[in-house]
Amino acid sequence: MVGTGVGARRGILIKDGEALERGRKIDVVVLDKTGTLTEGRPAVTDVIAFNGGVGSDEVLRIAASLERFSEHPLGQAILRAANERNIALAGVDDFENVAGKGVRGRIGNAPLIVGNIRLMREDGISINDAMPQIEAREAHAETAVLVASNRELIGIVSVADALKSDAKAAIEALHAEGIATAMITGDNAKTARAIADQIGIAEVFAEVLPQDKAEQVRELQGRGRRVAFVGDGINDAPALAQADLGIAIGTGTDIAIEAGNIVLVKGSPLKIIEALRLSRLTFRTIKQNLFWAFFYNIAAIPLAALGFLNPMIAAGAMAISSVSVVGNSLRIRRQKLV
Ligand code: ADP
Ligand code: MG
Repeated sequence: MVGTGVGARRGILIKDGEALERGRKIDVVVLDKTGTLTEGRPAVTDVIAFNGGVGSDEVLRIAASLERFSEHPLGQAILRAANERNIALAGVDDFENVAGKGVRGRIGNAPLIVGNIRLMREDGISINDAMPQIEAREAHAETAVLVASNRELIGIVSVADALKSDAKAAIEALHAEGIATAMITGDNAKTARAIADQIGIAEVFAEVLPQDKAEQVRELQGRGRRVAFVGDGINDAPALAQADLGIAIGTGTDIAIEAGNIVLVKGSPLKIIEALRLSRLTFRTIKQNLFWAFFYNIAAIPLAALGFLNPMIAAGAMAISSVSVVGNSLRIRRQKLV
């Protein structure tokens, strides 16, 4: 790993030299939302029940009973909330995970759906009456998880995922260098927009299905952009591989880390700009080294050939040339990049 040399002390693992070569030319950085810009540890903030009959504990019980079988961070948050309220879960049959949308299942004879607007629409569940409440949540950067039982919407579980503390500074640093940013997420457009506004990201690709993230990167590349993709999830791996530079969050999934060219060990988004600056600095240093190495030889070889250079001094000069190149490279370690 190249990173052992230039990045490791900074918590930046660089897997191949080509990553550095490409890193200096990036003009747009596309960032995944969940787990990359946000902590990726969402928490339930509120549970609303509709239709008089069931209370909010029942809404949470149904949602958590299904989410017990889901690996999604939203599902984990709902499960945690139910545990905290000591809600006993029900047995579930016919569990089904719908990627990028939610989950389905059955408790006894009641068919259940837990997920986003798209999933409800797909299943023909009427949500019009709840739209004002859903939109209010989304405007506050929260994700509304809708719960339907027996083909009727019975409640909403609101979930919030805090922004990473340095997310805003990271975006500002990229913009200051003239690098554009965009956010990509499977989450709904309103929540995504609210989060992007908090940190100053102008372009948002929302409601992108897991399999379409790479396609979005390809589309940008087709317009001549040189794209870095930053992500952490299983569903980010194809986009990480497709991008000119894949930057994986070290606290993310193994699959993402495997697919990235660069790994940010602690997952701080500020490290993105550091990695890009490191790429440029490394290349500038390589060019300086080549210049001085050639300069020495071009100047000294003719002198030696013509007998103007004592062989002992020539040997010394050769060694000094190597030391200067290594010394110049070692300066990279001490450069402050952020
Ligand atoms: P991302 O990783 O960008 O948040 P996903 O594709 O995993 O996107 O999910 C997109 C959206 O699908 C979520 O914001 C949520 O609305 C819905 N969703 C996915 N999985 C679940 C789940 N297990 N429970 C509830 N909603 C879900
Ligand atoms: Mg993610």
